[in-house]
Amino acid sequence: MIDLLANLQPIVLIVMLILLYCIENMLPYLTPPANKKRHYGRNFTISLVSFLLNAILGSVLVMIVELTAQNHWGLLNQIQLPFAVKLLTGILLFDFGSYLTHNLQHRIPFLWRFHRIHHSDNHLNVSSSLRFHPIDVIVSQCIYQCLGVILIGLPITAFVIYGSISIPLLIMQHSNVRFPRRFERFASLVFATPGWHKIHHSSEQKQTDSHYGDVFTFWDRIFGTWSKKQPHEIEYGLEEFNQDKHHRVGHLLASPFKKST
Ligand SMILES: [Zn+2]
Repeated sequence: MIDLLANLQPIVLIVMLILLYCIENMLPYLTPPANKKRHYGRNFTISLVSFLLNAILGSVLVMIVELTAQNHWGLLNQIQLPFAVKLLTGILLFDFGSYLTHNLQHRIPFLWRFHRIHHSDNHLNVSSSLRFHPIDVIVSQCIYQCLGVILIGLPITAFVIYGSISIPLLIMQHSNVRFPRRFERFASLVFATPGWHKIHHSSEQKQTDSHYGDVFTFWDRIFGTWSKKQPHEIEYGLEEFNQDKHHRVGHLLASPFKKST
């Protein structure tokens, strides 16, 4: 069962991309970019790089998850707990680690130079979901996820369940689709819903530096890094990426290494 769930993840990612792409084009929530084709084209080009990198790093990560289980590394392998408790604790701790890493990606100027490529998008849609600089992917996958799995002693089942929630959620969070208000209100008590996550893409720094949670909203609520805003009240993007030339693929990939922007 868990193997099937793991094998389905890339298929779910592609199906979600196609499905939400169709919905956001038939019924866009917010005004789409003036040149939609160019926006999709640029973002999907960068996404292809991060998708391939994710696939390569993903297999290293799976190897680390298996090695952790075989060698009983990490916190959860040192204590006796019922399997269900271990599973839930593992998922929560892994998401907490992701929250902390995301915080650092905003607070450490060197990491922010790469992470801001994801934030520079002026219009959010499914193509923004994987608009990450390759080095940003390496930071979150290689440094955090590999280390997190080992330190937590994350069970394989917890790793697969976490991925099965976070991947579809990632596409939903960035899609230009309006989800029912009631869904947003109740689901955001636990999960980082699309409306909740969009606040993180605001051009206002106070809001950019909030709503860090990938899957759960607990950490933002506990540490006070959240605010109430509606997606239609938000202006997306970053001031230093206010011209069309700043969104060319070459510029996005090279900009972390340039002095200006
Ligand atoms: Zn961020």
